[in-house]
Amino acid sequence: MSERPGEKIIEEARQGEAMVLDQKAGSKKLYIESYGCQMNFSDSEIVASILNNEGYSTTDKIEDADLVLLNTCSIRDKAEQTVRKRLSTFNKLKADKPSMKIGVLGCMAERMKANLLEEEKLVDLVAGPDAYRDLPNLVDELDGGRKAVNVILSKEETYDNIEPVRLGGNGITAFISITRGCDNMCSFCVVPFTRGRERSRNPQTIVDEALDLWQRGYKEITLLGQNVDSYLWYGGGPKKDFEKASELAQASAINFAHLLDMVADAVPHMRIRFSTSNPQDMHDDVLLAIARHENICNYIHLPVQSGSSRILKEMNRGHNREEYFNLIDRIRKIIPDCGISQDIIAGFPTETEEDHQDTLSLMEYVKYDFGYMFFYSERPSTYAARNLVDDVPLEVKKRRLNEIIARQQEHSLYRSKQHIGRVEEVLVEGESKRSPHQFYGRNSQNTVVVFNREDYKPGDFVLVKIENCTSATLLGTAVNKVEKA
Ligand code: SAM
Repeated sequence: MSERPGEKIIEEARQGEAMVLDQKAGSKKLYIESYGCQMNFSDSEIVASILNNEGYSTTDKIEDADLVLLNTCSIRDKAEQTVRKRLSTFNKLKADKPSMKIGVLGCMAERMKANLLEEEKLVDLVAGPDAYRDLPNLVDELDGGRKAVNVILSKEETYDNIEPVRLGGNGITAFISITRGCDNMCSFCVVPFTRGRERSRNPQTIVDEALDLWQRGYKEITLLGQNVDSYLWYGGGPKKDFEKASELAQASAINFAHLLDMVADAVPHMRIRFSTSNPQDMHDDVLLAIARHENICNYIHLPVQSGSSRILKEMNRGHNREEYFNLIDRIRKIIPDCGISQDIIAGFPTETEEDHQDTLSLMEYVKYDFGYMFFYSERPSTYAARNLVDDVPLEVKKRRLNEIIARQQEHSLYRSKQHIGRVEEVLVEGESKRSPHQFYGRNSQNTVVVFNREDYKPGDFVLVKIENCTSATLLGTAVNKVEKA
């Protein structure tokens, strides 16, 4: 796991990393690489678990693999190009070892379907995000010398009874998926087309997974979904069908604030984070749950995408600039020391300099702790691709993006400085890249803290006096360990 705050979400440093685990030795070897968001990394753990039961053990040596899987991302064109390049490097490997099978999973598989087999001749298997239970059958088909495809999207699949194996992690922090799919239909976003309708996972299985992780020594979980605040369990099925559920099912439904209560009470000594929050679905009940539970971190990832109400409307976001400010004000009131991060897209179709200035002034108001910033990339099938002209020239998109990034760096430094002089609880995640004599971890606000390791160890909660900072990192001295029962 990386020690830069941004990478907690985008996992930039982990893109394409081979993921391995300790598991029962199998005779067949699986090599799996993941690209894109946390959800994909979490899905790879489900895939490894399903294939582990079929006798596959993971390897980080691609030459040894019988089956090579790429879990792909389609969110921007660049993400797909990265996968294409990776596939082309597999050509040579396959020439040396023709028995090796190559599969593409995830969003790119779903978007391109069987066309991927046509375009990338060396690909043997294509499986979309809801088809992983079918992998054993698909792999059997390969053994029979055929190519295999399953890209059927499901209204129910949440993989709730599959215990994921933890790949390539630090044994301290883990992801738990709580929803799949997305119903938002933001006009720029391919996710509803690649991951299907939004559905929530049975809360008891989420609590059980958290308890199991705690018993295995994990200290922090991140509840994952495209839009976690929209979580709604009413017995299973797509969120859009909630209105059709029985009165009893509706009355006993569990929403996100309720789920937070359940998880926070079940694992009171574990840290809880969640991602991603969509502004229109985040209400005071969630903010109050964060404030109520000491073990829920004071940190919200709250993508805004643009500061212009006109562009937000074109993006089909469910909020405008004023509503977003209102939410920020409520967060600051209910959780005074809450860390807040953003996603922003520069150069959406029709964006003017005035719209761009609105984004910069919104950033000025919020002063985010950190952010994930992109220039607009037109994605096939989306509303924007079908109905709007991608009319902001690339150099203008890049210039605006650079201005947004520069502003974010100023604000990150401003926020970092506010921590100086405080004593903060840090969960130690590992050795710092800067020095083997230092550890890194995170405070509640998800900012990285580096300090001299002394006799502490990864997994410890340590109180650290913050003495100095850069825009991305806090530097301090350990005071003492916090004992959790
Ligand atoms: N569900 C979250 C939301 O909508 O706020 C996150 C979705 S996406 C996996 C992560 C981020 O990628 C988005 O918040 C957005 O900033 C960015 N993104 C999505 N589609 C994009 C596109 N077509 N071009 C550039 N950035 C994009």
